[in-house]
Amino acid sequence: MTQKLLEKPARIDRNSLSFVPELVYFEPAALDYPKGQRIFEWAKQEGIPYRMTTSHNRITNLPGDTELEQYRIAKRTLVVGLRKTLKFDTSKPSAEYAIPISTGCMAHCHYCYLQTTLGAKPYVRVYVNIDEILEAAQGYINERAPEITRFEAACTSDPVGLEPITGSLRELIEYMGNQPLARLRFVTKFHHVDSLLDARHNGHTRIRFSVNSKYVIKNFEPATSRFEQRIEAAAKAASAGYPIGFLIAPIIWHDGWEDGYAELIDALDKALPQGARDDLTFELIQHRFTKTAKGVIEKRYPKTKLEMDIEKRKYKWGRWGQGKYVYPDEQADALRMFISERVFDKFPQSKIEYFT
Ligand code: SF4
Repeated sequence: MTQKLLEKPARIDRNSLSFVPELVYFEPAALDYPKGQRIFEWAKQEGIPYRMTTSHNRITNLPGDTELEQYRIAKRTLVVGLRKTLKFDTSKPSAEYAIPISTGCMAHCHYCYLQTTLGAKPYVRVYVNIDEILEAAQGYINERAPEITRFEAACTSDPVGLEPITGSLRELIEYMGNQPLARLRFVTKFHHVDSLLDARHNGHTRIRFSVNSKYVIKNFEPATSRFEQRIEAAAKAASAGYPIGFLIAPIIWHDGWEDGYAELIDALDKALPQGARDDLTFELIQHRFTKTAKGVIEKRYPKTKLEMDIEKRKYKWGRWGQGKYVYPDEQADALRMFISERVFDKFPQSKIEYFT
């Protein structure tokens, strides 16, 4: 099994980019749910090897002889289970709560914070008890009424990349569409929005696309959707009436960064329909890393071109836990000003929510 998994390239093709795992684990109870059954039938039909597991939190027998092999295989392993903790984490400032429908991601962004936050569990988990998750969400909505409650669905995963397998986002979107006091948001580097376009969203879901210069996407975001695919997906979502937004993150200082980010904003300008521009948001996040993350990234992506020289960075104290290395003020200001000016030039009605 190990050898087969190692020799086989991941079945992620940047054209279709539908993620097909190489191995699937099921918690037995997941098969009692229609979604669990559906994924089970799909795995069998696709000829994907599967195993049973007592808990999605304890996958201990992943194939692979070294840590690195296990990590690569874990990224191609899907675990189908139940979300047992129905107490949601907070997700300030962009939402009140993180709504948990999946954990982990099959992409290989070198800088991804999930590498440290998910520790030894980098495999991709999806939860099939969506009705119970929505029931818990309803509790939070009721608790905060008459205030609006915002839920973020992409805190620990990229749910759009998994949507062709689960269909869970569509369920969330339609549920929140019916709730006058609820809003949903999520961010993605994938383009699989087609099945969401005719969902009854009622303007209650904001889809944000994480975009970047072509250089950053090519060098640091393997196994995600391409530059053009993401922009095309954003235009489709906007045409379907969704409020949309862009996360330009992480903003990376690289040779030719001005041209790269100018090209990005121009491409957004060319692609976006007029109707999307009045309620458009941008979030700008410069690249940052912790010492722990640097160690993990260098082990997992030893050839990365990601610059993580702490001598060239500014240390920013963390409120909870260890601080982060960001760009020195002069570089950060140059990035912020250059990108903000272009955003306001092309999208004068848009809102830059923050630069951090
Ligand atoms: S797509 Fe997002 S969640 Fe997935 S590896 Fe990249 S940064 Fe991490």
